[in-house]
Amino acid sequence: MAIRIDGKAFADRLCEQLKTEVEQLKSECGLVPCIAVVLVGDDPASHVYVTNKVKRCHQLGIESREHRLPATTGQGELMALVAQLNGDSGVHGILVQLPLPDQLDEEAVINAIDPGKDVDGFSLLNVGALALGQNRLVPCTPLGSLMMLKDHLGDLSGLNAVVVGRSNIVGKPMAQLLLQQNCTVTIAHSRTRNLPEVCRGADILVAAVGRPRFVQGDWIKPGATVIDVGINRIEEDGRSRLVGDVDYDAASQVAGAITPVPGGVGPMTIACLMYNTVAAAKASRGLA
Ligand code: NDP
Repeated sequence: MAIRIDGKAFADRLCEQLKTEVEQLKSECGLVPCIAVVLVGDDPASHVYVTNKVKRCHQLGIESREHRLPATTGQGELMALVAQLNGDSGVHGILVQLPLPDQLDEEAVINAIDPGKDVDGFSLLNVGALALGQNRLVPCTPLGSLMMLKDHLGDLSGLNAVVVGRSNIVGKPMAQLLLQQNCTVTIAHSRTRNLPEVCRGADILVAAVGRPRFVQGDWIKPGATVIDVGINRIEEDGRSRLVGDVDYDAASQVAGAITPVPGGVGPMTIACLMYNTVAAAKASRGLA
């Protein structure tokens, strides 16, 4: 039976450390890390995510400023808000919750954020820096996944890693981070041939597909470490529940270790957003 990698406990530990650091920054440097969270429209999932992020900020003593805008917000209005936040020296991190309503150009908005405040790590400069191995602000979900992998496995050097999914926010940055750790990395996607066989070669398997219980137990190499990034809401036995991209029950019979959903990558994503916000605040004062 696989070890269950407890992302919630890991996130709580990381947040405790950050809370202490935030207290020190306040008392020693008069610096209060601050994140501006921009939410456009009424997407229920986005509202839940933003509420959870703001709650974590409060727990850690990080200031949060919420900007909730109507679904009808225009591009000019949103770009003006981003420009205003870029220019506000009291704001160290800017998070524009995705997805944005259809009329808005997501790419333009993300790239308008000052790269030093881009705590999601999605802007051109931060993505390029990651590709060059000159990491600045790294996307939170892959960063949290890597922290758990290193905590569980130690040195990742030479391991075969398969990332299923090639999105800009999860799959690609995850692959970059694993490559930096000297893994031999395969990125699989919807056109990959014989995916089960590709997965069976993985010492580390990261599933970021967006399909409930897609990865089967017999796709997993015995003893492998499985990171399940997926968050899928399904109706089952007359109730609504969250499941990952991996068939957890079957996979945990084969894997060496696996993250659960919920309670795995999700809490680490929020903890890493806090981590990036503190890092951005420190960098704004030239602190390491
Ligand atoms: P995207 O939809 O952007 O990307 C999904 C990827 O999966 C694509 O690269 C796609 O391939 C690939 N894919 C789809 N179908 C198949 C298939 N049949 N075989 C192989 N590959 C396939 O999703 P995200 O990366 O944004 O998110 C992935 C999952 O992670 C979702 O469940 C999301 O909710 C969750 N998530 C969780 C977070 C957390 O905090 N835990 C944060 C972010 C996301 P192709 O490119 O060829 O289309």
